[in-house]
Amino acid sequence: MNEKIIKDKLVENFLKYLAIPSQSDDKNEIIPSSPGQWDLAKVLAADLEDLGLVDININNFGVVQARLPRRGDRSRSIGWVAHLDTVDVGLSDQIHPQIIKAYDGKDIKLNEEITFSSKDNPEVLSYIGDDIIFTDGTSVLGADNKAAIANIMTALWYLKENPEVDHCEIFIAFVPDEEIGLRGSRKIDFDKFNVDYAYTIDCCELGELVYETFNAASGTLKIKGVSAHPMSAKGNLVNPIMIAHDFISMLDRAKMPEHTENREGYIWVTDIKSDVLNLRLDFNIRNHDREKFEASKAYLYQITDLLKERYKKALIEIEISDVYDNIADSMNDENKVAVEKLREVFKCLDIEEKIIPMRGGTDGSFLSTKGIFTPNYFTGAHNFHSNKEFLPLDSFYKSFLVTLNLMQDDF
Ligand SMILES: [Zn+2]
Repeated sequence: MNEKIIKDKLVENFLKYLAIPSQSDDKNEIIPSSPGQWDLAKVLAADLEDLGLVDININNFGVVQARLPRRGDRSRSIGWVAHLDTVDVGLSDQIHPQIIKAYDGKDIKLNEEITFSSKDNPEVLSYIGDDIIFTDGTSVLGADNKAAIANIMTALWYLKENPEVDHCEIFIAFVPDEEIGLRGSRKIDFDKFNVDYAYTIDCCELGELVYETFNAASGTLKIKGVSAHPMSAKGNLVNPIMIAHDFISMLDRAKMPEHTENREGYIWVTDIKSDVLNLRLDFNIRNHDREKFEASKAYLYQITDLLKERYKKALIEIEISDVYDNIADSMNDENKVAVEKLREVFKCLDIEEKIIPMRGGTDGSFLSTKGIFTPNYFTGAHNFHSNKEFLPLDSFYKSFLVTLNLMQDDF
């Protein structure tokens, strides 16, 4: 099958899934958090059926799961997870992409007001001559993560169209609400996701490969002080704001997001709300290193104890809960082949690998807590979560080839 036919199919699928608005909404507690994700889930379930998958199901949380039985003697069972939602960063939820054919290196007028400048985005210059998909300036492009969905669906289509091609048993999970705390991947029916390992396709430019993410926890400090009239405040008033001030002043300023990079972890105070009596302070803890991560938690418990000693009349409580784990922690001798295969495929396809310890999490970080090692590879897009997001077609195609090769597993 020639490259042009596959590229056309990739673009057709991408535009089809982009046309269904599916921004997640972090203010909604329900999963999925937006009706568009249901719509997309239904369309995908129908498409999976057309492609010959079995055990297709949409559960109560909008998670679409399906299975493609193996063909030939490939022994492995491999999963692919992609997310249904696009991110809400205050831009429109309607996505109207534009395809610039044979990009010439000049600035692109995304709309009357917004220009994509090659000076501000010099990385685009490595795609001169390539077709590139841009936004119309009013929204993100949504390659995060609909390029992944289109990629997987196109690979499944290829396998259907080419019945002589053998492949592994393939499990698919399309999950909602990744962008608002990896909520959807928690709702996968893991009894029906019997994989040796899995993949997400949820990072950016050509060659990116992630199998290390943060360990993540979030927490809340609650302080109830003692209020008093100024007439009798002396010796009685306990101001929760001043206690929170002590708490913050005991955090290491050098270990905050604004001062850390690469594998350096941090504590991030993200919110504080108070009146004269009650205060609530929210924070996040992130670290690639499990020991340092646990040490950060222990330190916060320790300073809370110290404050309880110091302010005996106040009620001080701290709560910390884990959000996700470092993908690398679920890697073992059996499943590490997932990364080895990926690197081999990159080599075969002449893709230069860019291994990144990700300062964030992917759906794989939650799967990791379930013992399913889930590395993450590139969609091919740049500038995720921005109206300057763009997807060079050649990189998109290479990402597809990676998926197809992994499904075939014959190298
Ligand atoms: Zn994503």
